[in-house]
Amino acid sequence: MSEQIFNNKVAIVTGASRGIGRAIALELAKEGAKVAFTYQKSDEQAKSLLKELEDAGSVGLSFKGDVRDLGLAKEFVEQVKSFFGSLDFLVNNAGITRDKALMNMEKEDWQDVIDTNLTGYFNLARSCIVTFLKQKSGSIVNISSVSGISGIARQVNYSAAKAGIIGLTKALAKEVAPYNIRINCVAPGFIDTDMTTGMKEELKEVFKKTIPFGRFGSPEEVAKVVSFLLSENANYITGQVIKVDGGLHTSY
Ligand code: NAP
Repeated sequence: MSEQIFNNKVAIVTGASRGIGRAIALELAKEGAKVAFTYQKSDEQAKSLLKELEDAGSVGLSFKGDVRDLGLAKEFVEQVKSFFGSLDFLVNNAGITRDKALMNMEKEDWQDVIDTNLTGYFNLARSCIVTFLKQKSGSIVNISSVSGISGIARQVNYSAAKAGIIGLTKALAKEVAPYNIRINCVAPGFIDTDMTTGMKEELKEVFKKTIPFGRFGSPEEVAKVVSFLLSENANYITGQVIKVDGGLHTSY
């Protein structure tokens, strides 16, 4: 068996009951990490993830809670530290869409997306950062989106939040680099998860034609890149945005 890169490391992954977050949790576990994860509603999926983490030889910890709540985020991080005794990685992943043309977008659609996809990332980073500063180590990966780089019609709320995540990442990378803490972004293109299964087939085909690889990506293909960025193999990489999009966007 090849050597596991995350032996004795402890990772937090938000929104891991389904989709990309779930694939990240399993990828990190496969590499030897212990994984604490959050979710909001999907009790059954959270339970089955705990079992899959165990089957992978890892130890899991689940926490049902809304990432929009800073108090809950702090409580979760304290639970993780007392359960596992340490904390090394944070993956901010929990996200939602409320796609609509701006003329139909209600304040609630805007606020829900900003609160979950941007403030939620602040809440978890804020709750972990003092631990990382004190131990002079830590690695954070924030899941953004190509929507935050180039903008996608009917996603002004989502594109704004995802662009905000990139700004947060770049600023924090500079702030905490002297403490040996790295923070990077992964910006997926179109990935096969519940977030995209709702799209009309005709629309999917239109998007596929714009992707050089001609297909949507898998959650596992995103997870591999997250794992690399968290690992020591990426020791000299911070403040970067890595697109995992099948060649969709090739500009800087
Ligand atoms: P998904 O399949 O819809 O899963 C979303 C996850 O986030 C679920 O685990 C969900 O928990 C959790 N979640 C949502 N709101 C939450 C809240 N307020 N508090 C706690 N957990 C919450 O989504 P996905 O496609 O895997 O997306 C994961 C991330 O990748 C998101 O940030 C998304 O914006 C980004 N992304 C996705 C794509 C894509 O094409 N799929 C492309 C670019 C970027 P429950 O199961 O309990 O609801």
